[in-house]
Amino acid sequence: MENINPFLLPGAWYKGALHAHTTRSDGKLSPAESAAAHRQAGYDFISITDHEVITDMSEFGTPDFLTIPGVEVGHSKNAVGQQYHMVLVGIRQLTRAHYGDSMQTAIDTWREQAKLVFIPHAYWSGMVVDELMALERIAGMEIWNTSSQTDLGKGLATVQWDDLLARGIIERGGKTKS
Ligand SMILES: [Zn+2]
Repeated sequence: MENINPFLLPGAWYKGALHAHTTRSDGKLSPAESAAAHRQAGYDFISITDHEVITDMSEFGTPDFLTIPGVEVGHSKNAVGQQYHMVLVGIRQLTRAHYGDSMQTAIDTWREQAKLVFIPHAYWSGMVVDELMALERIAGMEIWNTSSQTDLGKGLATVQWDDLLARGIIERGGKTKS
C-alpha cells in the first residue's frame, strides 16, 4: 500500500495544540509564557486544557493566533482502575458529570458543553481497546503525549489507535464513527 503524506496534500494547514497545561494545574509555564512559547514555535492556534479548570487565553489571542478555551476532566475509573481523562475543547462553562455515571453518559453531558471531546493519552490511562471501541460521540484520540512518555514511558498510543483502525472504528484522520 502506498504511503501518502497528508501534509503534502493541497489545503490550508494550521499548526495547533489541543492539549496543554499551565501553572493553573500541573504545567510548568504560566498561561502568558505558554502563549509566547507556542507563538514562537509557529503555532496558529492553541487550547489550554488545564485539569478541571477552564483557562481563558483570549487576552493572548491575535488575528493569526487563535485561542480556544478548553479543559481536561477526570471521571470515574476504567477497566484497570485508573481514572478516565477526557479533553473538552471549545467550552465556556463546565458542568461536572455525576461521578457514578458511565463514561458514555459523561461524554454525552460534555458534548452539550464543548465543541470537541477527545481521549488524551489512552496508553498512559490504561484504556484497553474494547473500552475505546464502546465510546461514541468522541472526535478522536491523542496519539502522542510527551509528558506521559516522560512520566511512565507510555506516551505513544499507536497500538490502541491501530487496533481501532483495523476494526474500522476510527477512520484515517482520527474521526470516530457516530
Ligand atoms: Zn490527563
